[in-house]
Amino acid sequence: MAKFSKKIYDTATLKIEDLEILILRKAVRKIYLRIATNDGKIHLIAPRKPSTQFLKSLVMDKLAWIKKHHQEFSKNNIKNINFKNGELIEFFGNKYTLEIVNNQQKLSITTDYNDKIVISITKECDQEDIKKSLHQFYRQELLKVIVPMVHKWQKIMNLKSNFIGIKKMKTKWGSCNYMKARLWFSSELAKKPFEAIEYVVVHELGHLIEPSHNKKFVAVMNRFLPNWQNCKKKLS
Ligand SMILES: [Zn+2]
Repeated sequence: MAKFSKKIYDTATLKIEDLEILILRKAVRKIYLRIATNDGKIHLIAPRKPSTQFLKSLVMDKLAWIKKHHQEFSKNNIKNINFKNGELIEFFGNKYTLEIVNNQQKLSITTDYNDKIVISITKECDQEDIKKSLHQFYRQELLKVIVPMVHKWQKIMNLKSNFIGIKKMKTKWGSCNYMKARLWFSSELAKKPFEAIEYVVVHELGHLIEPSHNKKFVAVMNRFLPNWQNCKKKLS
């Protein structure tokens, strides 16, 4: 599920007001503007030809849109959470309230799977420790969901994977090694609704049948997950 995995020819940074825009020159035909879902960086993917000046004028035209979406990202992103009581964080498509319990013996995270995530912290804990353990929590919780999901779908699709892993991924929701039948999923999926995760699972398993995104691949998706387009929308 590569979004823009083409080779990068050149990079440059544009600074406009307090925004930094990374220009990535690639073998693409059109110009794409993206706010990366993993770190909130603004990427402008462009062919080699247009001048930096031209790209800058394009960014200026879209500045209101960029600011709006960049701000939205910053609000939702785990990196910018100050880990205060009552903070809302995404968990499987819902907003959960963060509850922080101070002065505990060790750092731990639990949830009622309803609307609350409780972080117990020690006196020594800093924001970085909490951030790390929240990421670990997301990984574990996602694994609990994704392993049975993969098992369910590989049975339906009559396939077999050799490995299921979760890691931080910069530009993808998942990946599939066709030869080794190894599946990787992005830890960010722990924020998404189950239908969206299911779509990624079926998509990556679909690559065990057909490695590229061609007609045959679309036919696989249509056959096993006829409403895949709706499920995919829930990823954004
Ligand atoms: Zn794919």
